[in-house]
Amino acid sequence: MDQKVRVRFAPSPTGPLHIGGVRTALYNYLFARQHGGEMILRIEDTDSQRFVPGAEEYINEALAWLGIKIDEGVREGGEYGPYKQSERRDIYREHVKMLLNAGKAYIAFDTPEELDARRESTPNFQYDASTRMSMRNSLSLSADEVKELLDNGAKYVVRFLIEPGRDVEVNDLIRGKVTINSSVLDDKVLYKSADDLPTYHLANIVDDHLMKVSHVIRGEEWLPSAPLHVLLYEAFGWVDTMPAFVHLPLLLKPDGKGKLSKRDGDRLGFPVFPLEWQDPKSGEISSGYRESGYLPEAVVNFLALLGWNPGDDTEFMSMQELIDKFSLDHCSKSGAKFDFEKGKWFNHKYLQELPDAQLTELFKPILKENGVEGFSDEYIIRVVSMVKGRINFVKDLWEQSRYFFVEPTEYDAKSVKKRWNEGTPQLMNELIEVLNGIDDFSCASVEPTVLGWITDKNYHMGNVMNAFRLTVVGECKGPHMFDITELLGKEETVRRVRLGVERIK
Ligand code: GLU
Repeated sequence: MDQKVRVRFAPSPTGPLHIGGVRTALYNYLFARQHGGEMILRIEDTDSQRFVPGAEEYINEALAWLGIKIDEGVREGGEYGPYKQSERRDIYREHVKMLLNAGKAYIAFDTPEELDARRESTPNFQYDASTRMSMRNSLSLSADEVKELLDNGAKYVVRFLIEPGRDVEVNDLIRGKVTINSSVLDDKVLYKSADDLPTYHLANIVDDHLMKVSHVIRGEEWLPSAPLHVLLYEAFGWVDTMPAFVHLPLLLKPDGKGKLSKRDGDRLGFPVFPLEWQDPKSGEISSGYRESGYLPEAVVNFLALLGWNPGDDTEFMSMQELIDKFSLDHCSKSGAKFDFEKGKWFNHKYLQELPDAQLTELFKPILKENGVEGFSDEYIIRVVSMVKGRINFVKDLWEQSRYFFVEPTEYDAKSVKKRWNEGTPQLMNELIEVLNGIDDFSCASVEPTVLGWITDKNYHMGNVMNAFRLTVVGECKGPHMFDITELLGKEETVRRVRLGVERIK
């Protein structure tokens, strides 16, 4: 690549960043880092109607949480700023003038009411070469009329003059050549005098050019805009430095039928936003990956594989490994099903990689919330090491291990029905005798003694052991029974068996 790689992530601050947007940011980042290039974060806030307070902060926080580092941006600064479009009005105004002077754009005075009326009277109306001379604009009106309207402060927009009947080629590094005939395009609005702001198309192209962007990597939903963008590069005379286009595949619903939406997340119970978000107007809260207990490394790994693969069956990759392996050649054209169960599985796997001491620190506040205090770190670490294989989230530790901290007060009804019968209390009383006779309560010592007793007496192994577990744990689940009793100790184990005999009916 002869040109320096410079990519940009260009979100509009219209709400919380959707998980699809996060994936776009991630691919931009991986690509930039791999090529020793730079990543820009540009805030595209030219649509004042859709601006949502807090959205920009949210974007910054989400990217930081995930470890996606920005080289140039509003907060980072950089040579090509400002990086917020609402602060670049002068630049856009100047570029609009360039197009007008070159005859590549024109001024249109049609009011919203006039446009509506026209849409009503002309089926499939499009503002283009076939209709523009019947509208009110600087091409159809005389120079004097235009001047008078402008002098009187009439509101206007600037439209792009699209020549019909031309094949416009978009070279997409994932999709190959995409050709579209210019006749299907309308004369897009590039600038509105009402708020002195450009539209997305103009601002986007001007900024990509001025910020020396080499690759435009964005979601597939922007592919339809690409031919227009190519024409704008031509109109400005910038074709030689036009960035390469990369349109990433859509994220699809888990069943593959249609685009992933917020509603799918609500319906199926998984977040579609990186961080929790509270809508400033309605107060409605949308869940986030962070607050739901996901590790950022797991989210990054999961997202990286939605639309890309490393070319082999490697699944676990750190950010650095992703940077090393990423390649546009292995990005898919077709949409990627959002398999949130896989996301959970990644989180499970990443939690297993955390040192027990670190998991313990994450677990402590949850213990506190549940009123558990006074256990040593050493004790909690041992609990964590025993049950972590069963968790997808840190919060699951509590459900999986509460009996290490509080005695069971209820006993799982199904297990009781299956494992507790008339003779069980007598068996458990005998077990208490056996346990009381053991001095060394380690697993290595208790296990052979208890199992030996069951065998000698010819008792049913499953019935005795399950009843025993029921009294100690409250249900017939959990890690190895004698690891549990080792940690609980003799006194507590015997106490629980006794309580079980009293309480289970
Ligand atoms: N502002 C657009 C968005 O919200 C940017 C699209 C692009 O990357 O060109 O996604």
